[in-house]
Amino acid sequence: AKAKGRNNYQFFAQELAVLSSYRLSLRNKLKTAIEEEQFSLVYQPKVTTKENRIVGVEALIRWKLPDGQVIPPDEFISAAEDNGLILPISDWVFEEAIKQAKAWSDVAPSYFTVAVNMSARQFQQPDLVENLMALLHKYELPTRFIELEITESMVMEDVESAIRILARLRKLGIRIAIDDFGTGYSSLGYLKSLPIDCLKIDKRFVDELFKSKADRALVSTIIYLSHVMGVQVVAEGVETEEALKLLDDMTCDLIQGYYFSKPVAPDDITVMLANNDTS
Ligand code: C2E
Ligand code: CA
Ligand code: CA
Ligand code: CA
Repeated sequence: AKAKGRNNYQFFAQELAVLSSYRLSLRNKLKTAIEEEQFSLVYQPKVTTKENRIVGVEALIRWKLPDGQVIPPDEFISAAEDNGLILPISDWVFEEAIKQAKAWSDVAPSYFTVAVNMSARQFQQPDLVENLMALLHKYELPTRFIELEITESMVMEDVESAIRILARLRKLGIRIAIDDFGTGYSSLGYLKSLPIDCLKIDKRFVDELFKSKADRALVSTIIYLSHVMGVQVVAEGVETEEALKLLDDMTCDLIQGYYFSKPVAPDDITVMLANNDTS
């Protein structure tokens, strides 16, 4: 048993060494990526459930190495949160998204928004609001064009302080969305104290819609509660017409997902906006 234990330990130590050298090389690659601007943003439309009219887009980061290899955000965002590089990356994302939103602000309808994912570290920065306002000022973009997506778990980290920050941002005219709703540990009861405009139901729940009556009841309840509180609801990761129909029956306001469009380059969004029925 002892020998086996040691073997396990050696195996574990080896795994750890592999993991930490992977992290280290990822860190170095991320540093270069920031310096050499290897990132880009793609945008995924959010559309009305009924008419499939575009009301906004979500900015999603892409990282392409010089050798053509693409690393998905799920693989580097959390590592960047851990090693602190998320701050310069987030700065780049925000500036790029605001620049693009400014370009669209002339051709898009007045209710059009560009949603940006907020990182956990960024949300903890004491000068978050000032930095954001300075950027909006630099590009002369009215605050109403920007929506910030904040995950449920980021809010639950420190609810009181989150509420204060969100209320400040909203007062300035920035829209707030709760991302990945249902994956964290908050109770539905928290919903009523959060100063938010929009709630995004996580793809996990959308995928389960056809599994059981209980799953459908859960989604219906979230939509109902949100509406009572004047909060708009987006279903994430909608891939099929069946899901769209069911969500429409449940009076879900907006959908986002491959059913309508994958995340695409900014020029593709410009074309979609030109064809958007705004009547
Ligand atoms: P998220 O914010 O929940 O973004 C939604 C993810 O679902 C995106 O993955 C999107 O491409 C994907 N998606 C959308 N519709 C569908 C669908 O119908 N089916 C399927 N299977 N997937 C769909 P992506 O772009 O790989 O991003 C993954 C996560 O990485 C994001 O989840 C977000 O947490 C993070 N992320 C992405 N961009 C940024 C960024 O600029 N800043 C920060 N802080 N995080 C980001
Ligand atoms: Ca998001
Ligand atoms: Ca999400
Ligand atoms: Ca997610």
